[in-house]
Amino acid sequence: MAEIIIKNLRKDFGDFTAVQESSFTIEDGEFFMLLGPSGCGKTTTLRMIAGLELPSSGEIFLDGEEISQRPPSQRDIAFVFQMFALYPHMNVRKNISYPLISQGMRRKDVKAKVAEVANILGIEDILNKPVGGLSGGDRQRVALGRAIVRDPKAFMMDEPLGALDAEFREHMSEELRALHDRMGATTVYVTHDQLEAMQMGDKIVVMNNAVVEQFGTPRDIYDKPASLFVADFIGSPSMNFISFNGSVAVGDTTVTLGNTCVTVPQQLSAHQGDLVLGVRPEHVQLRDEGGIRGKVGALEYLGTTQIVVLDTDYGEIKARVDADHPVSVGDQVSLSFIADTISLFDKSSGAAIRSVLNDGVIAHG
Ligand code: ATP
Repeated sequence: MAEIIIKNLRKDFGDFTAVQESSFTIEDGEFFMLLGPSGCGKTTTLRMIAGLELPSSGEIFLDGEEISQRPPSQRDIAFVFQMFALYPHMNVRKNISYPLISQGMRRKDVKAKVAEVANILGIEDILNKPVGGLSGGDRQRVALGRAIVRDPKAFMMDEPLGALDAEFREHMSEELRALHDRMGATTVYVTHDQLEAMQMGDKIVVMNNAVVEQFGTPRDIYDKPASLFVADFIGSPSMNFISFNGSVAVGDTTVTLGNTCVTVPQQLSAHQGDLVLGVRPEHVQLRDEGGIRGKVGALEYLGTTQIVVLDTDYGEIKARVDADHPVSVGDQVSLSFIADTISLFDKSSGAAIRSVLNDGVIAHG
């Protein structure tokens, strides 16, 4: 069991705030992603959970116990670094055994435990090899072996696949997720790669500039971004944004962009001023007439779909349509948006204009 609760966690380095009043809950057994651009405070958050950095304020609970000020050795949390330092003069078996031997475990038990871990990771055949000659993937497996052999309550992983090339990275991320599904141990994983976070995570915290922008399932975050930042950061190509000055009242079903009336989800909270309408490329539909007019400026063929880049009165809008949809560069087309999928944001704060009904998404601010 390892449920981790983070409450108002903050870290200052002198005058600089690396993490600002973060709060979220990591449920037992979750594969939990800390996602955000470089420098947003992900690693600092992870290090505070592991005890490698002490918080300036706030609390961390592990299975209900407050651990914020405890040293790492009293937290029972394993940390897997990106460039995990294996002992180069030891073979694989010794590298994996080391944490157990240093805990004073009996040789017979160490042997059994190493065999169990090697079996989980599929590395029985390299146990007697020196680590020096191993491939990147095998080194990563040995590093994981060293972390899991201790049976910690939770794993902290800081971009563990960051050094690998794209194809191998994908393979290892699948392997890591499958390993997690077999073991079921709570895992907190830092990445700046939104695709990796979406593919691997049960839940995601999106951070920006030391602040938690949103916390939820990959689907929540993709479908209901809590801020302009999240909407832009998640998804490729990213969401289309149209700025306009207007208003939306509770229960409205449309907003007016210039001469065009656009249907939006019902039950939004009231707002007026500078607003931004967001729509993902796959929710932009091409039609023969009506709606917003656009000229096809470019096409990007992606196999099963294509991205149609349109020049419109509201700037460039991208649509993702079937690859065999008949469209050519230079065509004049009309576009419409799937109403339920539209997001609205307040331009100055960047916050999503939420439903007046509680939809369970935590907005920042
Ligand atoms: P990256 O992926 O680039 O590591 P990150 O989101 O993990 O980014 P952190 O490593 O948590 O970011 O760093 C957040 C900010 O805190 C950065 O601006 C970093 O320079 C700063 N920082 C981190 N550790 C220290 C420290 N020991 N002293 C001073 N500033 C620090």
